[in-house]
Amino acid sequence: MCGIIAGVSDEEIAPILVEGLRRVEYRGYDSAGVATLHDGMIEVRKDVGRVGELEDSHHVSGMKGKTGMAHTRWATHGGVTTANAHPHPSCHGEVAVIHNGIIENYLELKDRLAAKGHVFASETDTEVIAHVVEDAYAEVHDPIKAVLRGIKALKGQYALVLMFSDRPGLLIGTRNDAPLVIGAGKRERFLASDVLAFISRTDRAVFLDNNEIAELTPDGFRVFDLHGGQVKKPATQVAWELSDVSKLDYAHFTLKEIHEQPETVIRAMMQEPKKLEAFAEAITGAKSVVLTASGSSYHAATLLKNRLSKEARMRCDVVLSGEFEGYEHLVDGDTVLVAFSQSGETADVLEAVKKGRERGAKVLTAVNAAGSSLARESDIVLLLNCGPEVGVAATKSFTAQVMVGNMIADAVVGQSTAREPKKVSAQIADVLRLEGRVREIARELSNRTDFYFIARGSHYPVAQEGALKLKELAYVHAEGMPASELKHGTLALIEKGTPVVVIANSQEGFDSTVSNAMELQARGAEIIGISDRVNPVFRHFIEIPSANASVAPILEVIPLQLLAYFMATERKNDPDYPRNLAKSVTVK
Ligand code: GLU
Repeated sequence: MCGIIAGVSDEEIAPILVEGLRRVEYRGYDSAGVATLHDGMIEVRKDVGRVGELEDSHHVSGMKGKTGMAHTRWATHGGVTTANAHPHPSCHGEVAVIHNGIIENYLELKDRLAAKGHVFASETDTEVIAHVVEDAYAEVHDPIKAVLRGIKALKGQYALVLMFSDRPGLLIGTRNDAPLVIGAGKRERFLASDVLAFISRTDRAVFLDNNEIAELTPDGFRVFDLHGGQVKKPATQVAWELSDVSKLDYAHFTLKEIHEQPETVIRAMMQEPKKLEAFAEAITGAKSVVLTASGSSYHAATLLKNRLSKEARMRCDVVLSGEFEGYEHLVDGDTVLVAFSQSGETADVLEAVKKGRERGAKVLTAVNAAGSSLARESDIVLLLNCGPEVGVAATKSFTAQVMVGNMIADAVVGQSTAREPKKVSAQIADVLRLEGRVREIARELSNRTDFYFIARGSHYPVAQEGALKLKELAYVHAEGMPASELKHGTLALIEKGTPVVVIANSQEGFDSTVSNAMELQARGAEIIGISDRVNPVFRHFIEIPSANASVAPILEVIPLQLLAYFMATERKNDPDYPRNLAKSVTVK
């Protein structure tokens, strides 16, 4: 989940690394660190907190050397402390490592190495890698051979980069089930967890596959397989628009990304007709269709599932990727597995896809990151085309997924419910103009501790998504529920002043949803209505434009994104970097 950027250059490397690190900070941000190699010594500066704080207190961009590595951590093993921050040097300072992932057998390795005299400075799983490789290097005196030997001892999931104090101008990187990309610039080379980290220096990327080992020098790179044989890897030209990761005049990336939706939803509609057709044909021809995703992507996948079952009369399931194990026995060669993800690196989703593949399923994907592991492992890929999403909470990628889902459902059903780009874009812009109103509501409700979101039918996933946004950004307990379910238990929690967001669509279950809102109001709830039709039960009302069932969820969710955003700012949270979270959840 962390951000990795390492580089060898003929220029001073530290300022380049710090800039890159800021760009991948969204991936994890509880602590940060930089190591450079200068005059045969590896210097490490690291601390808890964000990259900006590290720069202020340790002036990392002034570190000397042309070979270096940097990391932002999302702790899995060991508390958030300076000692546990990466990079981790080995005990003799000969090797330093940065790592994304988990080393499952680290305790066993630690015991073995401690018995050989190695002294550990942190509680992390990562540190064992530096010692394992140092140990091997002492014997084989060759960095590639030492790393090859080292990783044979590791069990788990990793992307890692190593440098050696006696090898200036050299970096070694390898991966297993976590992303690692080479950036091949002019007289400089990078290894990063995301192309964003080096996009301002080069647009030539080489995506590593599992168990490949890359050796980088300022003039070139070589890639080896597990047996030490050289592998030819093609370079991909990465779209330059990825470099547009500035906040412009917005206070936060999250707000900027919410405001990009009139354009991003339209870009999501721009799918290659042939691919879309092939995607739809694979679904239509399958005996069973299973959708899988996590978090917000799961809510978007549920919307697609609803349309496929209702309109295409298909029996299909949507399974949380982290729960796929309990479902996989139903997957076989006649199954089409459809995975939704923003990053394409979510470990749970990749694992589900791997299991599906092993059982012979065809894998179709809707993903934002074109070069991601998920995109590369899929038979057909539809891209979300919404540009980089830096805010940790999904906003524009969610609505792009809903729209891509609509394109898929339309192609399967043979109709077009969402093909009026200009109108959809204008409606989204209209909803965004309600920002001031949403902000007032957020201000009034900012100190409430429990929220409920209710809706019916195809709008229920929107209620779930609204609740998730509020939890992520405002740190407020929230539940998204079918309106019909309240009376089966949750109603007991409603007290005077409990806020309940009611999503009521005039064309689907409006009257019954309003009846549920009345039952709530009678028990003291404060109703916030999100609807295209007014009703006296709404104490606060956000009026959105009327739209058909496929576009309505997009219009409904935007006020909920804004509500969560303004609740966060009212409560003095940083909406771009919510506590405990990371954007790309690359651990299982
Ligand atoms: N497992 C490592 C740690 O806890 C790496 C975490 C990460 O990916 O940031 O330090």
